[in-house]
Amino acid sequence: MFTVCQSCGICCASFRVDFAVEESQEQGGSVPEGLVVEVNARLRRMRGTDHSPPRCAALTGTLGERVACGIYEWRPSPCREFEAGSAACLQARTRRGLSNALLFE
Ligand code: SF4
Ligand code: SF4
Repeated sequence: MFTVCQSCGICCASFRVDFAVEESQEQGGSVPEGLVVEVNARLRRMRGTDHSPPRCAALTGTLGERVACGIYEWRPSPCREFEAGSAACLQARTRRGLSNALLFE
């Protein structure tokens, strides 16, 4: 995780995280099965990301203080592709009242 992400974790508690079934362990991928829920024949979802409020079951720690992804090496592609400092990142942080200044230092 980026340094700023280690004191954030907001994106892991804001969005549904869906990915192709091939990324899950059941199909030879890397995402641990216990953290995955079935959406349909083609799609899987990180457990907890469709709860209200959402929070990925793989996220440990306290949002906005200190967090870690428990499956960082094995996380699915949406997590790998989500960029710190992107519009979605900044919007999610702003919604939770976090300053974005750190991202631009
Ligand atoms: S919301 Fe942005 S800063 Fe926070 S963990 Fe996600 S990518 Fe990192
Ligand atoms: S798998 Fe890791 S990076 Fe992806 S949403 Fe869950 S805690 Fe965040």
